[in-house]
Amino acid sequence: MKDTFKQQGKRRQLVDSLKQKGIKDNSLLEAINRVPRHLFMESSFEDFAYQDKAFPIAEGQTISQPFTVAFQTELMQVKKGDKILEIGTGSGYQTAVLCELGAIVYSIERQQKLFKSTKRFLEKLGYRPKHLSFGDGYKGLPDYAPFDKIIVTAGAPFVPKPLMAQLKIGGRMVIPVGEDPQIMTLFVRTAKDKFDKHTFGEFRFVPLLEDKN
Ligand code: SAH
Repeated sequence: MKDTFKQQGKRRQLVDSLKQKGIKDNSLLEAINRVPRHLFMESSFEDFAYQDKAFPIAEGQTISQPFTVAFQTELMQVKKGDKILEIGTGSGYQTAVLCELGAIVYSIERQQKLFKSTKRFLEKLGYRPKHLSFGDGYKGLPDYAPFDKIIVTAGAPFVPKPLMAQLKIGGRMVIPVGEDPQIMTLFVRTAKDKFDKHTFGEFRFVPLLEDKN
């Protein structure tokens, strides 16, 4: 598992391009600069790791586009020590970025094979999310709620009620909503029964599917 000067150089260029595309949070840009994205992809795609594109990973899933990871993470306004729930662990790349930001990360994946391989892989890289769960993200993690932030990294046909319920008052949830494409949506919970909604244009994700498999 190498991280060569060449790969580090390409990663710096990727970070510069994210800046040009409007990502402003410096601690986020530095976190992205520290995560060796090429290691999260199958070896045949390593050369593409530092292009700003989504890529296929195992089990017919994708590793999100770096800009999308940066955009969703910036919307959450992550602070060190934030307790964050991620739906859709996938390759673990987004999980790693959140760990780099000092967040306490809980993440759910519904594909058992991916869940197992990513868990092992993150350990190998030295990332320590607080809890990785094999299960159905529509249900969230009621035993560990409430969360400061929630990030959904698959396209949700609707906003799951349990996730709204598991958000702290003052908390922020970022979720792409819709069939295809999705509209990036931020909910800020301002009171027990009050959520402010903001939308941020179209994105494309693999679908959030019901039940685990
Ligand atoms: N955050 C990931 C993105 C992976 S793509 C990354 O950085 O690589 C979305 C992931 O969501 C896929 O791995 C898919 O299996 C998972 N997923 C889809 N529906 C889900 C559900 N209901 N619960 C948990 N994970 C789900």
